[in-house]
Amino acid sequence: MASRRHNGSSSSTSSRNFGLVSPKLKCMCGLEAITRTVKNGENVGLKFHGCPRCPDGDCGFFEWANVYPKDVDDLQLQVFERDTLVAEKEMEIDFLKEQPKMVEKKLGNNEDELDDTKMELCHTRIELMKATGNEKNFSIALLVSWIFFAFMIVILKA
Ligand SMILES: [Zn+2]
Repeated sequence: MASRRHNGSSSSTSSRNFGLVSPKLKCMCGLEAITRTVKNGENVGLKFHGCPRCPDGDCGFFEWANVYPKDVDDLQLQVFERDTLVAEKEMEIDFLKEQPKMVEKKLGNNEDELDDTKMELCHTRIELMKATGNEKNFSIALLVSWIFFAFMIVILKA
């Protein structure tokens, strides 16, 4: 039996849980911070990490325990989301406000175009009237000249 053996896996799977497990907090003295609960004040009941030497000569290390910052993060996220929503709404309103302007502008353009067309029509009418007038004048002049011509012929013949 030519069964190959796979024995290449050098079992160095020593799981280094660096970063996966929340690292122990250390205060500025280099000591492991201890978790306390706020006993009084407006933040009563909230947990925080502090120097184990507290209250006797502690280094002043202070950090809220996970619960509080998470809440703050959530609140900040909510605020951010609401800000975004407000911004979106404002943009929407601006857009809606902008739209009638655009329509008005378009209407204005159309009105301008209409006015131009009216003006052109007016000019065309005036020109038409002038032309008609000229034609009339021309006709009258022609008629007069013909009458004059006829008179001349009559006079010459006489
Ligand atoms: Zn300390």
